[in-house]
Amino acid sequence: PQKSPLTTAELQIAEAVALVDTLQNWTVLDKIIIPTKNPNKKFVFGKGNFQVLTEKIKKLPHVTAVFLNVERISSLTKKELEGAWGVPVFDRYTVVLHIFRCNARTKEAKLQIALAEIPLLRSNLKNELSQRDQQRGGSRYIMGSGETFLETQNRVLKERELKIRNALEKLRRKRALLRAQRRKCEFPMVSVMGYTNSGKTTLIKALTGEAGLQPRDQLFATLDITAHAGYLPSHMAVIYVDTIGFLTDLPHNLVESFSATLEEVAYSDLIVHVRDITHPETILQKATVLSVLRNLNLPSHLLDSIVEVHNKVDLTERYKPTEDNALAVSALHGYGLEELKQEIEKKILTATGKKILTVN
Ligand code: GDP
Repeated sequence: PQKSPLTTAELQIAEAVALVDTLQNWTVLDKIIIPTKNPNKKFVFGKGNFQVLTEKIKKLPHVTAVFLNVERISSLTKKELEGAWGVPVFDRYTVVLHIFRCNARTKEAKLQIALAEIPLLRSNLKNELSQRDQQRGGSRYIMGSGETFLETQNRVLKERELKIRNALEKLRRKRALLRAQRRKCEFPMVSVMGYTNSGKTTLIKALTGEAGLQPRDQLFATLDITAHAGYLPSHMAVIYVDTIGFLTDLPHNLVESFSATLEEVAYSDLIVHVRDITHPETILQKATVLSVLRNLNLPSHLLDSIVEVHNKVDLTERYKPTEDNALAVSALHGYGLEELKQEIEKKILTATGKKILTVN
């Protein structure tokens, strides 16, 4: 049966629920759509909406936390809302960070998270100090070193940040070395990129025949790139790598702190960009992915040869190609895969020249 495409508000809610569901032991009790003001302002909601929300939260017996689907709330606002509702309040930044933290396995991912936490610590510090200031001129309190409390804390944070950056740089160099060794005898690598839920996992599963891959459960399942082997029409073997999925309004500096993970994309031979063509924001999503890719300083031949996949065409009544060179695919029903494989092969042959390994 034909499913009707969802509205943007429904999708935002679905994405928010998927985000919270990713956290083990968290269950969504209720979903409420309420217009928010500029989240950087002191008041996230209008007065009336705030009351409606407060009443609703108080009526729910087992609320242990509230997730606001906004990118960032100030630590002051967070404190005020927590005071009013009596439970911890999270924004997208803290939830995404928490998911990242739960899933980080490698030392590099852990360091990246520690780095992404620094702005939070900084804003908590500022908030705490402004309260102290009100109480007793706290930030002007002189420590033994002759610094104010604020200066000491800021220095500690700065030193910590520098330490993490240095450690990351060291790991990055080590990774480059390993990569150089690996490349001497390697299969071509295809990076599969796109928004969360666009069908990346399903597509890789369809292209590689890997039964073990679990679509849907993969939302941030791994921060480290996962690789899967598949064959092209001429039996050429390729490695498909699934990178972290894009998310609407993913906090920008979080993405940046994970650019080391995305950095591997620069060393692939081809990029396949998967889009859910039924998503109402699909054009905007494409622009976001392309702009993130551009910021990664990829070699121009990679940017020029991106394979555009329009996925989920089975959900559209009559698919109309909106762009030249895009391939219409249904990863779920196996439609358009042969054409896609041929296109991947053609582009890899151009990109890699002679270093093709054929396995019969
Ligand atoms: P990812 O987050 O990009 O890895 O997306 P998934 O592969 O996990 O897919 C997200 C959801 O979209 C799953 O429920 C899939 O079954 C569904 N899906 C993926 N491809 C298609 C498709 O071609 N058609 C339809 N109808 N659903 C699809």
